Amino acid sequence: MLRRALQAMRDIRERIIADEKSDAFRGRVVWHPAKSLWFSTHLLIWIFTGSLNFSFGAIIVFVGLSILTLCGGHSLGMHRQLIHESFDCPLWLKRFGAFLGTLVGLGGPFTLMRAHDMRDWAQRQDKCHPFFSQHSAIGLDWVWQIHAQIKLNSGPKMAYPDKLTQDPFMVWLQRTAWLQQIPLAVALWYFGDWGWVAWGVSGRIIVSITGHWLIGWFAHNQGPRNYQVKGHGVQGYNVPGPMALFGFITFGECWHNNHHAFPESARIGNTVFEADPGWWVLCALDKVGLVQNLVTPDQVQDQHSVEAITQT
Ligand SMILES: [Zn+2]
Ligand SMILES: [Zn+2]
Repeated sequence: MLRRALQAMRDIRERIIADEKSDAFRGRVVWHPAKSLWFSTHLLIWIFTGSLNFSFGAIIVFVGLSILTLCGGHSLGMHRQLIHESFDCPLWLKRFGAFLGTLVGLGGPFTLMRAHDMRDWAQRQDKCHPFFSQHSAIGLDWVWQIHAQIKLNSGPKMAYPDKLTQDPFMVWLQRTAWLQQIPLAVALWYFGDWGWVAWGVSGRIIVSITGHWLIGWFAHNQGPRNYQVKGHGVQGYNVPGPMALFGFITFGECWHNNHHAFPESARIGNTVFEADPGWWVLCALDKVGLVQNLVTPDQVQDQHSVEAITQT
C-alpha cells in the first residue's frame, strides 16, 4: 500500500516538466474571454430566467445535481481519483466520475488536471505569482480566477498522462466539455420547465464555480492548520466555516491544510470533527466492492517535509 501511495505521488510530480529556468513568479494575468463569457452568460440566465421561473422543484433539482456533480464528480472523480489516484476503481467508474466532474462547469479533465498541477507546482516553489498563491485581496482574486488566466514568462511544460491522451472518451469529454450541459438542459426542460434549466444548469454552475474559487481563496489565506509543509512557499489552511459546516458543503475539500500535507490521501478530513462526506462515500463504495486501495494519510506521510503543528 505504501508503494501504491508513493507511485501516485511520483505520477503527479512527473506531469510537470520543470527545469532551472522555470519560474512560478514572473508573468502577467490576461483576460480569458471564453471563461469570462461562460460565467457571465450563466449568471445572466440564472438571474433572469431563474427568478422568473422560480419553483420548489427547481431548487430540488439545483441541490440534487450540485451534490452529485460536486461530490461524485469534482471531489471524487476529478480530484481524488483522476488527479491524485488516491484509490482504485474500474475504468467505467473513472470515466463516469470525470463526466460528472466536467458537468460542474469548470472545464474538462485535461483543463482540471492542468489547473491543479500548475498551482500545486507553483505553490511548492520558494516564491510564486499571487495568481497561484491566491494571496491577493479577495476582489482582485475573484476577477483573476473567474475571468482571467496567467501567462508565465518561463513556465514549466505539462505532460498529460496516457490515461487521458490515450483514452478516446477522456479526449472527447475534454473537447465537448461545455456542450455536455446541453443533454442535461434538454432533459430538465422536458421533465420540468425553464426554471429547472436555469437552476439545474446555470445556477448550479455559478454556485459551483464561485464556491470553488471562494474556498480556494480562504484555503490559502486564513484558517486553522494541523501541519506545516517545510520548503513550500504557500501553505494550505483548513476552512471549517461555522460549526464545521463547510466540511459538509465541500464534501471534505475544505480541509485544505491536510490536503497540502497528504495530497495522495483519499481521506481529507482526518478526525470526527473534520467532516469528509467524500471519504464516507468512498468507504461505502469500498464496502460494496466498487473502489479499492483507499490511501490514508499514514500511508503517504513524508516525515522529512510534514511537521505537525501543536494547537494552543
Ligand atoms: Zn492549495
Ligand atoms: Zn489536490
